[in-house]
This record gives sequence, C-alpha cells and structure tokens, in this order.
Amino acid sequence: MSETRALLEVNQLMVFYENALAVNNVSLQCKERAVTGVFGSNSAGKTTLMYAISGIIEYYKKQEQMKGGERISWFGQILFNGEDILPLKPSLRAKRGIVLCPERRRIFVESTTLENLKIGGYLATKSQAKKTLAYVLEIFPELRRLKGRHGGFLSGGEQQMLAIGRALMAQPKLLILDEPLLGLAPLVEIRLAKVIREINRELGLTILVSEQYARPILPVVDFCYVLENGSTVWEGCEADFKDNPDVMDAYFGGM
Ligand code: ATP
Repeated sequence: MSETRALLEVNQLMVFYENALAVNNVSLQCKERAVTGVFGSNSAGKTTLMYAISGIIEYYKKQEQMKGGERISWFGQILFNGEDILPLKPSLRAKRGIVLCPERRRIFVESTTLENLKIGGYLATKSQAKKTLAYVLEIFPELRRLKGRHGGFLSGGEQQMLAIGRALMAQPKLLILDEPLLGLAPLVEIRLAKVIREINRELGLTILVSEQYARPILPVVDFCYVLENGSTVWEGCEADFKDNPDVMDAYFGGM
C-alpha cells in the first residue's frame, strides 16, 4: 500500500475529557481508495477518534461548555488532502468531503426513509443527489419499498442501510463508519460488510471503519489499527494478523 497516497493522516493525536486521556498519541493513515479499520473494545477511544476527525468533537465540546460540564481538549495534527483540518468547523470538514456515519446510526426517526436520504444530500447538487439516490436504492434495494416509512419503524439493519445511504448522499471523499455492524444479526453483518467493500470498489471511495469485533469486517479491510485504552497497540493488514496467533486471540477471539 506504500505506493498509494494517504488521503487522511492523523499525527500524534491526543484527546482529553477533563484530565482523562481518551486518545493517546494516535497516528494513523487512510490511504486513498482503501478501507482502513480501527478496532478496539468498549472505551478504547474509537468514537472519540472519529469525532476528532469529523470535527464533531468541537460541537460536543461546545455542548459540554454550555452545560458547565467537563473540558474537552485535543492536540496533534489531522491532515486531509495535505491540509491541517483540526482548526476547521465540522461543517467545513463535511464540505471538504469528510462525512461521519455515527455510531447507533442516529437517523431521523420522525422523517421517512426518503426524507432522511434527501436531508443527507443537502451538500449535493441536484444531479449528484439524483444519481446518488439511485445508487443507494441499487445497493440497498430493501429501502425502495421503505421509502415512505418513518425511520423509527425500520429494523436495526434497515436503519444502518439508511444511515450509510444518507452519508453517501453527502458526497463523501472520506466516509467514516463508526461501528456500523453494532447490534446487527450475523447475516446482516456479512451483507453490510460486503456492501462496504462494494461501495469502496465501485465509487473508489476511501473508507475508515471502526468496530469492536473485527471478525466480520476484517475481510474487507485493507489495513487496520488496534486501539487499547486510547493507544495504538497493533497495526497491519489481515495477513499480518493471521501470522500472529497471539494478537488474533487477544483482539479477534482467534480466527
Ligand atoms: P464504545 O465502543 O463503547 O463506543 P469507544 O472505543 O468508541 O467505545 P470512546 O467512546 O471514544 O470509546 O471512549 C473513550 C474513553 O473516553 C472512555 O474511557 C470513555 O469513558 C471516555 N469518554 C467518552 N466520552 C466521554 C465523555 N463525554 N466524558 C468523559 N469521558 C468520556
């Protein structure tokens, strides 16, 4: 993968919630048109990392300040297309193509499937929105018959399809999927992992995906990082993991 350029480069990122270190000196790269995985158990720091990259951390920080809650601070560098984006607001990062599909989907439960998708397309031109909507309905045909159904009445798998579809409508250059397989049935996990690979291949889209359990998603990941207590404890590709049974046992329950 060394010949491919990194679209995203995170250098020595630290994120603190008050005095607690949630992301500790993490560096990672997302190569262009590759699927990069971040694995780690509960509280490893995956969501905090995704929030820092997408900029949502800033919104989160403001909310905490307004509540008089804890201080959130961060240090380090996040380069996207060579530009340091850490000072940029989340909306400006989204305009540059960094789109987060958040953990637990966060779809608009009182809006219909179609409305959810259309809301996702707010940054797209009319023709982009039309083309992407057709693509989303092609990769997730089950959403066709659910167009008029409210988000809150969809199953977990359908909601996740909708969340990914909505994120695609925003015309990402880097699609960030935070635990997309969380709480889904094994067959739906396999299906979604395959679709993630299809999206990556068909659109040439760079994808960063986090998961607690690597097993269902590992086959579609080109390179991955393992986080533990906020720090990177391992990095490599699937073959590297398979050559290290101790790591497999520790982080993936063996293979
Ligand atoms: P999960 O799989 O449970 O979502 P995660 O790997 O995404 O876990 P984070 O949610 O990023 O991990 O949490 C990293 C650390 O930061 C944890 O110790 C967590 O308790 C802490 N943390 C997260 N959000 C907050 C917050 N708002 N205030 C204080 N600590 C927080």
